[in-house]
Parts: sequence; C-alpha cells; structure tokens
Amino acid sequence: MVNIREAQEMMKRIYYERDKARGIERTILRTYQELGELSDAVLRGEDQSAIVSEMADVFAWVCSVANLLGVDLGDALLGKYANVCSRCGKSPCECVDTP
Ligand SMILES: [Zn+2]
Repeated sequence: MVNIREAQEMMKRIYYERDKARGIERTILRTYQELGELSDAVLRGEDQSAIVSEMADVFAWVCSVANLLGVDLGDALLGKYANVCSRCGKSPCECVDTP
C-alpha cells in the first residue's frame, strides 16, 4: 500500500517533466479522457482487472494535474473533508439533496 503523498511524489518523479512540457490544459484533457475510459470499462462490464487499471490511470492523471498546480492531494483531501462530509459535517453524510 502507498499513501497519497508517496503516490503523488512517485508520479512526479516519473512524469513531471513530460507533464510540464504538455502543459496544464492538455494534462487536464487527458485526465478527462482517462475518466471516460474508466466509465466505459465499468459500463461495458469489463473485468475487475481492467477497471482497476483504468482507476489507476485516473488517479495517476489527477496526480499529474496536482503536481503541475503545486497542490498536495493528501492535504487537499483532508483539508476539505477532515473525516466528515464537506457539506453537512457528518460521517456518514446526511445530506438530503445528494444520492
Ligand atoms: Zn453530507
């Protein structure tokens, strides 16, 4: 298992120079593309290994976006959610207007 910061650092070591050359706009577009591939895999009923692979791609691209923007994903997640729903402040969430 790897924590979020380690994962983000790993992706930075592997891809930061390429991400920087590509730029934030195209990196975000690639992230959308990967999310579409994950969606397709799920909706087509592909096997779990294909879904896991697509999920890894989505997370990797989110790490790339965060690295380009200088955002620490672990801090961002805990800063916003802090172990409770970011809207209602409860865990589990008790918001009535979201499924
Ligand atoms: Zn809530």
